Amino acid sequence: MTPTSTPKLLFLAAGCAAALWLGSCDSGQHAGSAETPTADANFERFKTQFIDSLWYYNPEWASGQGYHRYDSLLVVPNAAHRQVEAKEQARVRKQLGTFPVGELSVNNQTDFRLIENYLNSSRFYADTLREWQWNPAGYNLGSSVAEILNGRYQPLDRRLRSISLKISRAADYYAAAEDNIQKPTREHTELAIRQNQGALGVFGPALLDSINRSGLSEREKKDFRDRIATTRLVMENYIRFLREEVLPAGQFRSFRLGKTLYDRKFYYDIQSSYSADQVYQKAQQHKQELLRDMKKRAARLWPKYFAGQSQPADSLAAVQQVISRLSQNHATQAGFVAAVKAQIPTLVKFVNDQKLLTQDPTKPLVVRETPPYMRGSGAGASVSAPGPYDKAADTYYNVEPLDGQPAEQAQSYLREYNEYTLQILNIHEAIPGHYTQLVYANRSPSLIKSIFGNGAMIEGWAVYAERLMLESGYGGNSDEMWLMWDKWNMRVTLNAIIDHEIQVNNASEASIVALLTRDGFQEQSEATNKWRRATLSQVQLASYFTGYTEIYDLRQELRQQQGSRFDLKAFNEQFLSYGSAPVRYIRNMMLQKS
Ligand code: ZN
Repeated sequence: MTPTSTPKLLFLAAGCAAALWLGSCDSGQHAGSAETPTADANFERFKTQFIDSLWYYNPEWASGQGYHRYDSLLVVPNAAHRQVEAKEQARVRKQLGTFPVGELSVNNQTDFRLIENYLNSSRFYADTLREWQWNPAGYNLGSSVAEILNGRYQPLDRRLRSISLKISRAADYYAAAEDNIQKPTREHTELAIRQNQGALGVFGPALLDSINRSGLSEREKKDFRDRIATTRLVMENYIRFLREEVLPAGQFRSFRLGKTLYDRKFYYDIQSSYSADQVYQKAQQHKQELLRDMKKRAARLWPKYFAGQSQPADSLAAVQQVISRLSQNHATQAGFVAAVKAQIPTLVKFVNDQKLLTQDPTKPLVVRETPPYMRGSGAGASVSAPGPYDKAADTYYNVEPLDGQPAEQAQSYLREYNEYTLQILNIHEAIPGHYTQLVYANRSPSLIKSIFGNGAMIEGWAVYAERLMLESGYGGNSDEMWLMWDKWNMRVTLNAIIDHEIQVNNASEASIVALLTRDGFQEQSEATNKWRRATLSQVQLASYFTGYTEIYDLRQELRQQQGSRFDLKAFNEQFLSYGSAPVRYIRNMMLQKS
């Protein structure tokens, strides 16, 4: 459901004793220049320096964005590093404070707020939330090494040299990890054991094979193999430490954040104009609206699909039965990828015909089977988009083929992604959802907005796009299509509700699973998986609904304000033109312009 991995904030943060900053406070004056630098010109220079420093302290985040200069750096997450980084951030904050924010362009004002939020949230993560103490799964060398190894844009030898240098500090890294852990949650400890065990596979035969066929010297190869052996050893020790010391000691904290921490994390992560409580209330209300709509449509569809049978007295049961019947209409196991491919031109044409927004024909979406190393995450379809540093690269729509799966498992998946839901999925992931949004975002000149891409805005747009299409007549306004959308949208709505219920209101697993299966019409297995996810993350589950609601509310607000002058196409295009910024800032900019 997510187009790109959201960068973790401070938790993965890099660090080193040397500050990269060139000159403490660049005046921005060039010798001999007669021009007086404007506030914006100075701010542009500040942003460039800020980003370079950011990458130096966060090499893994940089790598994920397509910036590979610091691939070989490994941050040792110890106390000394935390101090250095805090000092550096204090210095940047001071510098940021010298800019007259009101005199900057609207675009730069948003960048100013995004940098400010990053600095504030970094302090919150490090000093108050302190996830570095209670989440042992935050320590894992596997994913960052795999990311460099699979990187498409660097020659193999260069990637291998980066990895070799990076893992030369593996022992210090895991020693710091053990040192940091204090009263973790049981859930994150178990996750850390599983994930580090999985990560051992990254340092296995495939990597050794790459070394053998590389152009590295014999000396380099030998050093590299020794470092891999050490890395495996320290990872195994870390797993043993968690399994044989941490777990048996039984000194755990609850995975639930509680109201105070949840509210603040919501504030920093989502940057919404709504509070966590307001979103919770809105989601409750929306749930009731969806249920009413579903009951109405299911009652209308009943005679068509259950001719001669009387409707059950329980209206929820009737909804469930109609959904089950509609879900039988789906693609074949062998034809799944082809079914997705076939829908894309239809979506492109509909968006053009209805004049929903302008599409860029020079950036076609490439539908492909998900590459093997990306499979198995449970995401049937996802968009791989080029980052801000390699905008010219292709965008892929990865669809996982079902050929290899046992028939029963594939049938269950096909019922879930049936004739109707599959179309909604393609709208969400591709056109005019994530893919279209990312094409627009890459045109936005602000690197800051690309880097601090706001998850709630990105997911919110994709959910908004589904409703936009159906409201414009996609699917012929049929009860079938709307009923299935209601169910789909209910999932997003319940995600926001249960995140709050679990993290703030102390809800039990049984009550959550009951809610998801009853009001969400979900299978038992889906509901249980969702519970597990909600114990391991906080706030993220609420981002989809929050972004969607904010975008929809903004559209209503502008529609009301502009009356007959309101133009849907202009709204959509203007909304997308600001890059992946939080909706609250886009709202400010759009209200100023209107
Ligand atoms: Zn999504």
